[in-house]
Amino acid sequence: MAPPDVRVPRALPTVLAVSTVLAGLGARPFLPDDVAGPVGDALYAVLLVWLVALVAPAVRPATAAALALLVATAVELSHLTDVPATVLDRFPLARYALGTTFSAADVLWYALGAALAGAVLALVRPRAAVVDEALRHVRERRRPRARWVAAVLVPLAVLGAVGAAGVGVERALRLEADDLSAQVVAAGSELADAEDKVADPATRTALSDALDAATALLAGRPVLDRGPGDAAAAGDRLEQAAATVHASRRTFATEQIGAQRETVAPVRRRAEHILAATDRLADAGTAAGDAARTALRDAVGTADEAVSATAADRLDAMALDELEDAAPDLSARRDDVDRATTALMVAQDAVSCPEDDQRWWPRGGRLDDDELAPIPWAPEHEIRADLVDGLVALDEAYRAEFGVHLTVNSAYRSYDQQLAVHDPRDPNPLAAPPGCSNHGLGTAVDLSMGPGSFDGAPYLWLQEHAGEFGWQHPGWAGPAGRLPEPWHWESVETPTEY
Ligand SMILES: [Zn+2]
Repeated sequence: MAPPDVRVPRALPTVLAVSTVLAGLGARPFLPDDVAGPVGDALYAVLLVWLVALVAPAVRPATAAALALLVATAVELSHLTDVPATVLDRFPLARYALGTTFSAADVLWYALGAALAGAVLALVRPRAAVVDEALRHVRERRRPRARWVAAVLVPLAVLGAVGAAGVGVERALRLEADDLSAQVVAAGSELADAEDKVADPATRTALSDALDAATALLAGRPVLDRGPGDAAAAGDRLEQAAATVHASRRTFATEQIGAQRETVAPVRRRAEHILAATDRLADAGTAAGDAARTALRDAVGTADEAVSATAADRLDAMALDELEDAAPDLSARRDDVDRATTALMVAQDAVSCPEDDQRWWPRGGRLDDDELAPIPWAPEHEIRADLVDGLVALDEAYRAEFGVHLTVNSAYRSYDQQLAVHDPRDPNPLAAPPGCSNHGLGTAVDLSMGPGSFDGAPYLWLQEHAGEFGWQHPGWAGPAGRLPEPWHWESVETPTEY
């Protein structure tokens, strides 16, 4: 009597294994992620059962299922160590065998897959341990029909699996291409938006290169030029390059904010000076109207808000568009303060200084001691320290011509000194009101012209040569000017406009 035939022919698990792989590949793109994961896990265990049957054709189905579950669980548990990550780093394709992360729930799906495959194996496995002659005859009679069924069903299953795999791969490629097309559009607008807005222009070049590569890939033929995963990889590169551009835009916007905040500070200080000066005048009842002062206070308040809204510790929480709007906003708020300050100065000038050629300067007559220096040959008089060298050079040239120093009668005048020489009752006062004279800025000197005044040699010589040393005679003090004063000379650095 022949030994009972309990071996599974090797061809069967081979065909089943290939079909399982193809069916898995084919089904993947049609399944939502939360279904594809468990199905993939189950098929993985199914595949392991077929492989066990292939290696050990005589194995019992229950043993094969148990072995498959053991292997799948061991692989899953290995994710608790660094080993799979190291392997995946070097061989990315190994993820199909190893998976990528640990999940206890996966083991349940392995168990289900292994159980199903074990059951199938038990059904297709030739009946074992049948010793009864009669039954043997019955089984032998059945065999031709079993072969016929196998001859039809197995090729059908294989064809179905191959077809499913083909359709699945085609659909997967199309989905990947659709995703990449959308990423190309998004990256294209990121590239355009980022023009002149990145700290490092190389990041835009890299994004442009990634875009070119993605566009070329999309233009290629599916399967031949673009295999599974190619578009996804190109999309990943595109996203990475876009993220780098995005980060560089944040860096750039942050730098712009820092630069603009620095420009606000001096403009704000000037506004505070003007406000403080008009406060003093308000005490004396000679300040400009409230409207200009209120407008400046409001502008300063708004600028302060913009500055505190862009404090370094608040930038991280800001969205990119907020971040990019902040620098132009700071610049606009600073310009508002600048304009409102000038408007207040003009308003105060109109109240304080009656003549067009006079300008109201809040610091007029209020310079600090260290901003002034005595005139060397007339030390009882002071002018702005940085103008002394030019006046000394002018005096040396004058002395070479006339043999004597320039005679200085007046130079810097403090606010109180100006108050003393200004006579508001005089309809044509020789001294300007306090705050309106450039003597108060330390940029003017009154020099004796001797007899002859406008026609005398000293005046004529100075008219010809003073400019070489940075000094001039202003139009209003000329022979035909508002107030002919041959003695009044001032530095070309005397400010005339706000
Ligand atoms: Zn003068």
